[in-house]
Amino acid sequence: MALMPVLLLNASLQPLNVISRRRLVVLLTKERVAFLDEEVRRQVESELNQRRLGEGVIVVRLLRNISIPRRMLHPNRRNILLRDDYTCQYCGQRGQAQELTIDHVVPVSRGGAPASWENQVVACRRCNGRKADRLPDEVNLRLARQPRPVTHEYAHLLLLRHPEVRTAYEELLRSALPASARHATPQPWAAAAL
Ligand SMILES: [Zn+2]
Repeated sequence: MALMPVLLLNASLQPLNVISRRRLVVLLTKERVAFLDEEVRRQVESELNQRRLGEGVIVVRLLRNISIPRRMLHPNRRNILLRDDYTCQYCGQRGQAQELTIDHVVPVSRGGAPASWENQVVACRRCNGRKADRLPDEVNLRLARQPRPVTHEYAHLLLLRHPEVRTAYEELLRSALPASARHATPQPWAAAAL
C-alpha cells in the first residue's frame, strides 16, 4: 500500500509542500500544524499511534504563515519540465525526462540568461541539436508559447509535482472550511491554479 501523502498548507491555506509522515509527526509534536477537521485529527492520531498506514491524503495547515522558500520557485530543470509539461516547446513532442533537454532560447554564449524562467524551455534532443547556439528564428523554430515564471503559481507547480494530492486540494477548496479556518479564505490565485 502506498504511503498516505500529507499535504502541508500555509496558514493562509496556500499549498506549501507534500511532506512525509515522519515530518508530520515532528510538526504535530512541535504544535506547528493543525488539522482542518476534528474527525480527521482523531483518525490520523489513532493511525499514527498504531503505526498503521491509512489511505488517502492527509491535509494539515501551519498555525503561522511562512513565506515560500525561494529555492522552491527556482527555474531548475525539474521545475522547467513541470512548467512545460515534458513537452518540446519547438515541435510539441512529449517525452520522458531523460529524453528531454533544457534549451536556452537565447544561447548563453550570445548573452542569454543562464538561469531564468524566461530563457529556458524544454526541447527534445532533435530540436536542441538543430538549434545549437543559434536563435530560434535563425533555424526556423518557433516557441509554442512564451516561457513565463511560475513564481505566482506556486500551488500550480506543487500540484504538477504531486498529482496525488490534487483531488484532496480541490475538495478542500470546494468544501466549507471549519470555522477556525474560515477567516483564511482561499485566495483567487489558488482557484485559478486549478
Ligand atoms: Zn522538438
